[in-house]
Amino acid sequence: MQHLKDLEDLIRTIPDYPRPGIMFRDITTLLADPKGLKKAIKSMAKPFEDEKVDAVVGIEARGFILGGAIADRLECGFIPIRKKGKLPWKTIGQEYTLEYGVDVIEIHEDAIEKGWRVLIVDDLIATGGTAEAAVKLVRRSGGTIVGATFIVDLPDLGGMKRLGALDIQSHALVAFGGH
Ligand code: AMP
Repeated sequence: MQHLKDLEDLIRTIPDYPRPGIMFRDITTLLADPKGLKKAIKSMAKPFEDEKVDAVVGIEARGFILGGAIADRLECGFIPIRKKGKLPWKTIGQEYTLEYGVDVIEIHEDAIEKGWRVLIVDDLIATGGTAEAAVKLVRRSGGTIVGATFIVDLPDLGGMKRLGALDIQSHALVAFGGH
């Protein structure tokens, strides 16, 4: 994995948010920096520039900001995955496990055409539960995953390994130890 020190320095860490023991990696400070934002988008898209990508799928909400810009770079469309109940048309949903309980994310049932090559985008991968649910939604929609791209990886939580076990090639720009 590449580790971009200048991007790391633009990410704000908020200890004990939203719960004691969590180090929240806040990318809003990076998004607000013109050079940082441009570099993050370029670097996230780069591994996929020579691939055929039919659509970028972004995960609510920070995945929308990054995913839209990456789709523009890769000259393909953007498809949102949202929390249950937010999309206006017919959806398919996928449950995933959180630390306490379960959650559901959804995609429009007609968003992905059979055989489309799809890139998954989010700001951060921790346990990989959210990204795995996104992978399942894309595959159930008939799409093939080209890869997954993130700004931040928390390797101690094993998300990228989990995606590897699903045969997904994933990339991140910065890694932070711990939770
Ligand atoms: P996970 O499903 O465990 O991989 O969690 C990934 C999702 O939760 C992403 O959409 C992140 O934005 C958010 N998230 C999880 N842990 C953190 C953290 N330490 N700092 C910021 N966002 C986080």
